[in-house]
Amino acid sequence: APMPDTRPSWFKAKAPGGPGSRYAELRKSIDAGKLNTVCDEAACPNAGECWEGGTATIMLLGEACTRGCRFCNVKTDTAPPPPSADEPLEAALAVASWGVDYIVLTSVDRDDLDDGGAGHFAKTVNLLKELQPSILVECLVSDFAGAYEPCTTLATCGLDVYAHNVETVERLQARVRDPRANYAQSLMQLRRAKAASVDAPSPILTKTSLMLGLGETRDELRRTMADLRANGVDVVTFGQYLRPTEKHLSVVEYVHPDVFEELREEAVSEFGFEYCASGPMVRSSYKAGEFYLQNLLE
Ligand code: SF4
Ligand code: SF4
Repeated sequence: APMPDTRPSWFKAKAPGGPGSRYAELRKSIDAGKLNTVCDEAACPNAGECWEGGTATIMLLGEACTRGCRFCNVKTDTAPPPPSADEPLEAALAVASWGVDYIVLTSVDRDDLDDGGAGHFAKTVNLLKELQPSILVECLVSDFAGAYEPCTTLATCGLDVYAHNVETVERLQARVRDPRANYAQSLMQLRRAKAASVDAPSPILTKTSLMLGLGETRDELRRTMADLRANGVDVVTFGQYLRPTEKHLSVVEYVHPDVFEELREEAVSEFGFEYCASGPMVRSSYKAGEFYLQNLLE
């Protein structure tokens, strides 16, 4: 059921650009292809800004997830159809045709696949980099159920940003995420990715995201930032959790924009993250390209 709109006034997104804008171009191309973008699937309110800035997020490996997190609106299937062998090339060709500078590749979790889909991601990254060597690629991936090989294969495949979301603070993990996910396992995979990346063709950044408004405290957030840094995580993002339907976890709190800003400052100046995006509307891929380019220029 649609949610009554009780959101505070600070939830406002810029309207997408008009005809001839980069947004309109991307809209046309995405509508013409068979790719799923998260921007569309999640009806993300930032599409105007992100697409205009040359960032989009596409979803590989199908539409059904083998997990069921309590905040997520993706459908669950214990035995989803096998991934399409043509998808890496199709995705690479489509993305290369968009002319974006930065792409986020993500997927549902595929616990049914031996490598969790890591090989599929790596293939897509390689093909895309062949077609458009200048493009920056972020892969937002699962915890691969704690498996070592998929994590390190992916971290060394030539991607630029290895992203995996811890989603929330340690105490709320079991309440929020699928029981197969947990805090320690996620930190371990982020640490492994960073460590393995010494063998990558070029340096990579590791990145994670948290949703706020689930009942976490400021102290718990500080502890999480410390844990992330201790595991080599370079970039963190904070956004407001929004309940997709009444069947999902309810929002405990709408965090004020000033608090998001304080967290951003703490993350960068106190904890030493390379970059932090933090705000009510921030999603893990929000303006991801801009952060990366800023980072390279510094
Ligand atoms: Fe797409 Fe992510 Fe930007 Fe939303 S925040 S429009 S999902 S790239
Ligand atoms: Fe949604 Fe990802 Fe959880 Fe699957 S693993 S239910 S796609 S958040």
